[in-house]
Amino acid sequence: MDFNPSDLKFDFEKGFTMAFDLKTGLSPDLETGKRYLSEMKGMFADSAAEERMIAEGNPMVYEFHGMPVPEHPGDLAFGCSICYPGKVGDEYFMTKGHFHTILETGEVYYCLSGHGYMLLESPEGDWRALELEAGKAVYVPKRYAHRSINVSPDEPLVTFFVFRADAGHNYGTIEEKGYRKLLVERDGKPTIIDNPKWK
Ligand code: MN
Repeated sequence: MDFNPSDLKFDFEKGFTMAFDLKTGLSPDLETGKRYLSEMKGMFADSAAEERMIAEGNPMVYEFHGMPVPEHPGDLAFGCSICYPGKVGDEYFMTKGHFHTILETGEVYYCLSGHGYMLLESPEGDWRALELEAGKAVYVPKRYAHRSINVSPDEPLVTFFVFRADAGHNYGTIEEKGYRKLLVERDGKPTIIDNPKWK
């Protein structure tokens, strides 16, 4: 059999390398999942602005890599998340955010480019907003939901993440209840407020 470098892709038994562009986060070896605003209906506080923006072009809010990792506790899943600049009303573009299905698993995010925050929230309501900028790593502790938020007016927020491959994603809790806190622009600055829609 001829040697084909593409056979090395995703070899979780013997190892492999991958390239991620520092500026865009994209990789020639991986497709991305894309999240348009219409798929986040009701997640932003300003519902009228949200509906208007969906009707007027339905922007892509973020995209992310998902790798075909064996869902084994000894394997690691990794990829990039790319959150685009923009706002719905005064609320910055963000990812849906999720808990891990196995709640007791952490995650590491490393910011490749852009400027934003990682918003953390525990089931008990403890929260923290950690600033992300190129060259900074964020440790997401076990049990905390995590969402990245882009506060730059013109640059994508690109992060590289690594987590235990069998951790699983629980999006439902956030979709149903929302986060207790939101990050909005007030007087030109990112500001944390209580989420009026939190259930
Ligand atoms: Mn995660």
